[in-house]
Amino acid sequence: MMKTPYYLIDERRLLKNLKKIEIFKKISGAKVLLALKCFSAWCTFDILRKYLDGTTSSSLYEARLGREKFFKEVHAYCVAFSSSDIQEIKKYADKIIFNSFSQLNSFKRLLKGFDLGLRVNPGISYSRFDLADPARKFSRLGVSDYKTLIKSLPHIKGAMFHFNCENDDYDNLSSNIDKIAHKYKILLSRLNWVSLGGGIYLTKKGFPLVKIAKKIKDFSRRFRLQVYLEPGEAVITNAAELVTRVVDLVSNKKNIAIVDSSTEAHMLDLLVYKTPAKIPDSKNGRHEYFIAGRSCLAGDIFGLYKFKKPLKKGSIVRISDAAGYTMVKKNWFNGLQMPAIAVRKLNGKIKLVREFGYKDFMSSLS
Ligand SMILES: *Cc1c(COP(=O)(O)O)cnc(C)c1O
Repeated sequence: MMKTPYYLIDERRLLKNLKKIEIFKKISGAKVLLALKCFSAWCTFDILRKYLDGTTSSSLYEARLGREKFFKEVHAYCVAFSSSDIQEIKKYADKIIFNSFSQLNSFKRLLKGFDLGLRVNPGISYSRFDLADPARKFSRLGVSDYKTLIKSLPHIKGAMFHFNCENDDYDNLSSNIDKIAHKYKILLSRLNWVSLGGGIYLTKKGFPLVKIAKKIKDFSRRFRLQVYLEPGEAVITNAAELVTRVVDLVSNKKNIAIVDSSTEAHMLDLLVYKTPAKIPDSKNGRHEYFIAGRSCLAGDIFGLYKFKKPLKKGSIVRISDAAGYTMVKKNWFNGLQMPAIAVRKLNGKIKLVREFGYKDFMSSLS
């Protein structure tokens, strides 16, 4: 039996998502890059590489990881590159996308001949959370002055519009693409490529994949552009779980099962976005428990669940949807045992690919 806690990535589930993306690519003609900020467990890159065209990044290190582990096209974006970032990133990137005019102006001479782009903030977005809304008030994400954008055309070949988050609403997507096509007509007709960013829920059950693919194909034909998408979540959705074990059971008006993991340290977004963890088959049972983490944080709670069987010390609790924005955010808070990384291969066998120990904890600070 494997030592808990561990993240378990399931290659068959990954493949299921990738097959959908393959259909989308075929119909739309778009290229699809993995957004490494969402998921960068490179033990899976052998499979991802077969279906995706490359990676996009939010920093120097992600761009480097894309170059050194994914071996395909590398888009390098960062909210603000430093001069030393730029010196190094030239080695890894196929395209560099700037977030502001001032970044473009600072580095364009140094990068003469390089394929450069600008992030554009279209002022529209789809996001349920203000925290993740690029079009929020006073947003620093992307440029919006159209005149300056047109003046920048001699220096750029492409643009990136990232304006969605978990968007599965075809009508909304379609009308926002139309709005962008209308508003940026002149710009788009003079570029070679455009990225429509991430956040389109391509792999969600029931998502109108073919319809959106056709929409994007039309957009790309109209402006004679290579379109890119940069999904994170959609690539890995539902493809991993966090496997934990009950260490203790306590009660305070309700039963509380404390597992050998922690929201804060191992599934941080549950706290950031105030959402309960997903635990399959735990809705209609008779045995109610809070599942809680073992950090000292009072609110370190995964959620309240109704299991079919009572939990005991040593019971396994599997928390699903643990790939996106989860493994990339794990940390050493409280010095808790960091979950190992395991992969369920296509042949069904589970392979342990990485364990973390005291030395990793110690060496993360000095
Ligand atoms: C976060 C982000 C993505 C990926 O978003 P998902 O919602 O995970 O698909 C893509 N591009 C940019 C610029 C991003 O900031």
